[in-house]
Amino acid sequence: MVNAINTIGVVTPGGDAPGMNTAIRAVVRTAIYHGRRVMGIERGYAGLIGGDIHPMDLKSVSGIVNRGGTVLHTVRCPEFKKKSFRKIAGRQLKDHGIDALVIIGGNGSLGGAHDLHKEFGINSMVVPASIDNDIPYTDSTIGYDTAVNTALDAIDKIRDTAASHERVFIIEVMGRDNGFIALEVGLGAGAEIILVPEVKCDFERVTRRLQEGMDRGKLSTIIVVAEGACSGQNLKEYIAKKLRVDVRVTVLGHIQRGGSPSAQSRSLACKLGSAAVEMLLRGEKNKLVGMVNEAVTATDIAKAAKARKTIDRSVLELAEKLSI
Ligand code: ADP
Repeated sequence: MVNAINTIGVVTPGGDAPGMNTAIRAVVRTAIYHGRRVMGIERGYAGLIGGDIHPMDLKSVSGIVNRGGTVLHTVRCPEFKKKSFRKIAGRQLKDHGIDALVIIGGNGSLGGAHDLHKEFGINSMVVPASIDNDIPYTDSTIGYDTAVNTALDAIDKIRDTAASHERVFIIEVMGRDNGFIALEVGLGAGAEIILVPEVKCDFERVTRRLQEGMDRGKLSTIIVVAEGACSGQNLKEYIAKKLRVDVRVTVLGHIQRGGSPSAQSRSLACKLGSAAVEMLLRGEKNKLVGMVNEAVTATDIAKAAKARKTIDRSVLELAEKLSI
C-alpha cells in the first residue's frame, strides 16, 4: 500500500517529564525500522516556528532510554497560541518535508496539535507525557509514575524524622490544578491528611483530625498538600496557633520532575511512542494515543482536547480510612 507518510517530525513542547526521552527513542527507532525519515524539532513549538529542525538517526537516540528530561529540549512558547505563528510553523513543516508530527507532551501540547490540524490540516499523533497525569483517555501519562515514586521516596525519609521528633510534617507536592500526584503519593505514604485543589481546604477539619489522632496516641503526622490546594505555610500557622505541636513544611518542588524514569514510565513510553508511529503509517491521524486497561487506544484529538480528567475522590476516603 502506498503511504503518504515518508518523514515524521518529533517534538516535546510541554513541561519535561521522565520517560520523554524513552518515547523519543521509540518514535525514532520505529519510524526508521519502517524505512521512514525522522526530523527532530528542538525547543518545542518555538523551534517549530524558528525552523530549529534536524534529521535524527538510530545513533541520535542511543543511550537515552533511561535519561530524564528531553534531549529535544523544551521552552514555553506563548506565541503558539496565535494563529499567525502557527501559520509560520505550518510553513516550516512544509519546507522541511515533514508529512506528520508525533507530539510528546501534555494538555497544552495537545491544544497546539488540535489547532494545527483545524487551521492548516497538519496531521499529528499526540503521546501523553506529563508528571501531572491530567490527560484524558489514558489511565496514566508518561512520567507520572516516576514523579509519584520520587515524592514517595522523599516522604519516607521525612517520616523517619517526623516519627523521631514527634512532629507534624506538611509536604507540598506538585499539582497546581489537580490532585493526581497528591492523592497517589498520600495514599502510598500513609499520609493522615491529603489536600487537593478539587476539594475546598478546611483547616478546621485538618486540626480536628490532628487532635483526634493525637488523642489516639499518634506521635507524628504527615499531611500531603498539592500546591494548588492551599499554602503549606498558611496551614502550618493555623495548626501552630490551634494545637501545641511542632509543625514543619517541606516543599518537594522540582525534584519531582527529574530523574531516571521508572519501569512503568519507560514501558508506557516505549509502547505509546511506537504505537503512535505504527498508527500513522496505517493511515490513522490526529489521535491521542493512550493506554486504557492495559490496551493501546486512539482518541480523536478534537474529543480529547475538550475532555477533562478528574481524580477519583474515593481514594481520599480510602487514604483517611487506612491512616487512622
Ligand atoms: P503541556 O504540554 O505539558 O501541558 P504547556 O501547557 O506549557 O505544557 O503547553 C506546551 C506548549 O503548547 C505551550 O508552550 C504553547 O506553545 C502550546 N499551547 C498551550 N496551550 C495552547 C493552546 N490552547 N493552543 C495552542 N497552543 C497551545
